[in-house]
Amino acid sequence: MAENQASIDSALADRVLAKIKEDEVIGFLRELVQIPTVNPPGDVRQGIAAVQAKLDGEGFDTSIIAKEEEKPNLVARLSNGDGPTLLFNAHLDVVPTGEESAWSRPPFAADIADGKVYGRGAGDDKASVTAQVMGAIALKRSGVPLQGTLIINEVADEEIGGALGAGLVAADPSVTPDYVIVGEQTLGKVLIGEKGGAGTRVTVYGRAAHGALPWEGVNAIEGMARVIVALQDELWPVLERRTHKYFHHSSATISIIEGGVKTNVVPDRCSIFIDRRIIPGEAPNDVVKEIREIADRVIGKLPGMRVEVEHANPSGGREAILNEPDNPVVQAMLAANSYLGFDTELSGFSMGTDGRHFHAQGYPTIIYGPGDPSLAHKPDEWVGVDEVMNAAKAYALGALAILGQGSKS
Ligand SMILES: [Zn+2]
Repeated sequence: MAENQASIDSALADRVLAKIKEDEVIGFLRELVQIPTVNPPGDVRQGIAAVQAKLDGEGFDTSIIAKEEEKPNLVARLSNGDGPTLLFNAHLDVVPTGEESAWSRPPFAADIADGKVYGRGAGDDKASVTAQVMGAIALKRSGVPLQGTLIINEVADEEIGGALGAGLVAADPSVTPDYVIVGEQTLGKVLIGEKGGAGTRVTVYGRAAHGALPWEGVNAIEGMARVIVALQDELWPVLERRTHKYFHHSSATISIIEGGVKTNVVPDRCSIFIDRRIIPGEAPNDVVKEIREIADRVIGKLPGMRVEVEHANPSGGREAILNEPDNPVVQAMLAANSYLGFDTELSGFSMGTDGRHFHAQGYPTIIYGPGDPSLAHKPDEWVGVDEVMNAAKAYALGALAILGQGSKS
């Protein structure tokens, strides 16, 4: 990556890394996990207050951006003179625990065992919050000369779309970062983009009749069955062949089916939701069109039936996000990982993140954080102590690469 490669001054890096202490980092993570910021309802006041108090205590300039009282978003600044602005973002809300009996440890106890911290939100996303906060604090405590601004932005509302969280912050005129790093579970890899989504709803209409006289009706569920088989046979294999060097292949899964009103009524309506994830180069409108072509052909052969295919979200889908590999924020995190001996292979995220809100405002945005995304939203969620420590170090050195005087990015 030649001339754009950021460099990290090893004397400065060692000063920063010396300020990252495991007992303090993990103690702070456990404190956050023990605050149940479950969404819904999404009240993160106590979690945000804990982060704000920590950063206030270290001399950061903190403020809150909020539209709803229960959903405050923290903006904490560490500034010195003119220079680039780097923003760290992660979220404090967590998904519900589900059946607590499925957990082998209480979901909000933040138990530690075998080098892992357990609990709802331990990985998603309080490990990232912790690593960002503690990495930034290390930078401050080290006293290394900085030029520019580091913003620590920990938010509400991510798990239900982020309109009152990152969406609000990204649109706020007081927040204009040059670079954004969104903390999610990337296993410590530098991810330069995320897949897009084009959730699609297919609805088959038939005609109701008494269940004892089915020949009087047209069964919408049976029509939908044929549409589903056709999608599996014709479209899914095509999606598997749509590949991209940074991403898993394009994908689709039918995640919801609804139909029928009563055991003795021929159903006149059946609908499915297709969770369609798209890679760079695929357009949301084309995605709907190709599903429609298959559904129209199948249903067209069935008398008395019709089908509608449309974006599930009335405002349409969203394209994949892909950053330039030579963007300074990409190079800074690669330099941090390289310095620390971590993974330096670029890739992309399969899930959606709050990064889209920053991307929508034109801010170069990447995703980086501790933990494994496949453990999120499940019972016995955990994150490795070493993973959180490594991320705190990498965030600190990434910020040093961009803001450190004597380093060059
Ligand atoms: Zn998350």
